[in-house]
Amino acid sequence: MRKTIIFTDLDGTLLDAENYSYEAALPALKHLKLADIPVMFVTSKTRAEVEYWRRILGNHHPFVVENGGAAFVPQDYFPFQVDGIERDGYIVLEWGVRYDRLADVLEKAAGESYCAVRGFHDMTVYEIAEVCNMPAEMARLAKTREYDEPFQILNSSHARDLEAVIEREGLRCTHGGRFRHIIGPNDKAKAVSRLAEMFEQAHGRITSIGIGDAINDASFLRVVDIAIIMPSPHASVVLKLVPNATLAHFSGPRGWNDAVVSATAGSS
Ligand SMILES: [Mg+2]
Repeated sequence: MRKTIIFTDLDGTLLDAENYSYEAALPALKHLKLADIPVMFVTSKTRAEVEYWRRILGNHHPFVVENGGAAFVPQDYFPFQVDGIERDGYIVLEWGVRYDRLADVLEKAAGESYCAVRGFHDMTVYEIAEVCNMPAEMARLAKTREYDEPFQILNSSHARDLEAVIEREGLRCTHGGRFRHIIGPNDKAKAVSRLAEMFEQAHGRITSIGIGDAINDASFLRVVDIAIIMPSPHASVVLKLVPNATLAHFSGPRGWNDAVVSATAGSS
């Protein structure tokens, strides 16, 4: 029987989009643990934030941060050597562009396109806490960025011009549930494909399940065997990008719970 693995976005998917609650997903998470089905977080969050959620949810599996900027594989997780940078008990695989450059290009693009923006680098911890509806200590973790700058556009009439300057600089924009993001040539799909290859190397053929809610999830939902999209204001756009995906019946952790239980019934 093929091994099943799960790649999931966090905000608006496993975690409630507004209050970050996860309790409704606990039955499915428990079932996955018993069935030995690994759950990998694939998110635009930072490493510090993901480590927080891994601790809360008792998750010890590899994870992908900052829209595919890097994947972190716990040392000795796979029964073979993983090529990457050894750091703090992980092997790190990096695809992202360093954060300073992203922040510089965003400022330059805003100036040239007359498109006012507000990025995390010019927001205080308290401003981020307010915009993201999270406590200051979580906002502090969200601000420790390495490969992705979330930002808001303050006058959307110049948004296309802004994106054009960013693309001219060899970088890209993507959309999460709450923010636009400026990133390098990375995306969630590259990181997910690489991790899936490692699972295949370890276990033979696998069945991969992907779950997400926003446009920045579409790339990795296209490279998994079973794609699930969470209901949200973005769902119709994401469904167009991933036509073979199914739509979960409820949003957030409740929908995640039900969708995961039915997608993994009888598998391990
Ligand atoms: Mg999301």
